[in-house]
Amino acid sequence: MDKIMPNRLDRGFYRYQQEFEEKALEVLRSGWYVLGKEVEQFEKEFAAYTGSKHCVGLASGLDALWLAFRILGIGEGDEVIVQANTYIASVMGITINGATPVFVEPDAFYNMDANALENCLTEKTKAVLVVHLYGQAAEMDKITEFCKKHNLRLVEDCAQSHGACFDGTMTGTFGDIGCFSFYPSKNLGGFGDGGAIVTDNAKIADDMRMYRNYGSRKRYYNEVVGANSRLDELQAGLLRVRLKHMEELTEERRRIAKRYTEQLNNPKLELPNIREHADSVWHQYVIRCEDREGLMAYLEEKGIGTIIHYPIPPHLSDAYAYLGKKKGDYPVTEHYADTVLSIPMYNGMTEEEQDAVIEALNAF
Ligand SMILES: *Cc1c(COP(=O)(O)O)cnc(C)c1O
Repeated sequence: MDKIMPNRLDRGFYRYQQEFEEKALEVLRSGWYVLGKEVEQFEKEFAAYTGSKHCVGLASGLDALWLAFRILGIGEGDEVIVQANTYIASVMGITINGATPVFVEPDAFYNMDANALENCLTEKTKAVLVVHLYGQAAEMDKITEFCKKHNLRLVEDCAQSHGACFDGTMTGTFGDIGCFSFYPSKNLGGFGDGGAIVTDNAKIADDMRMYRNYGSRKRYYNEVVGANSRLDELQAGLLRVRLKHMEELTEERRRIAKRYTEQLNNPKLELPNIREHADSVWHQYVIRCEDREGLMAYLEEKGIGTIIHYPIPPHLSDAYAYLGKKKGDYPVTEHYADTVLSIPMYNGMTEEEQDAVIEALNAF
């Protein structure tokens, strides 16, 4: 068998090849490439998919995050609570605006520990950024309650949670703004960069449309120093194709995850905990192993590729040296960073491939 990769984006393309190719040609032949009817339609369809009133297409997930905080007026002198074990882009969304991230440790589900939020609160706290990491919703009942109680803004980083619900409600719709990425490897991925926000607030949506287009609502009238962060027509068209199949794609990921959970039986491996009421969309299937480096090398030798999400937590990254954090400050986060491993999980994974991964893991 060929080497088994942690992800296979080509499989995602070939499954709907004809639809993607037809849509690409349609857009190319239309003569209209930025902010046209594909983006408009995609925004309508994605808003409906999430159960939000508005969606605004953007150029990336990072743009969705930093523009969200910009529009909420959160910047210099303000603090935003975010989980310490996230992808660094979540934190950049806060710090690009000059605001300060306050890290909270994760719970047993790799999400923000809702019970530790009170300890992070100061007079400067303005918002919570919750990340539905690996595709599983965070404990949203407690988190929304906390935000309401302390009058804080709530922003959701849904870059890994397209379609994931907590208690039947879609992630992205609990707070003020839900931020999405359509980077190719995400559950709803395009063929290049892309992102979006969803919101029920018409003013936020309007402001976001203004910000993404150089701060302009009316051509050549610029109200603020904005960004060039437009989802382009080609990506929007291709995302519309994929979005039509999201239910089937998510079901497939759930089938794969279920098989892993049922068949992995090696006591050296810690399998993911599954939160009640949170129906994971399995962006990643993340296991933990005390001898992670040994496990990775062993799998590599068997022709199985894996990746670490993420080996260096943001507080220990060079980019955030200025925050003055050190090793030992967030022990749970650091332990996860040292032991987590994402095993192959992708749409189009064959049973034969998965059997090979399961057999290798159980024999380790
Ligand atoms: C991918 C990702 C982002 C950034 O999205 P881009 O589109 O790559 O900018 C932000 N947060 C999380 C949790 C992500 O996984």
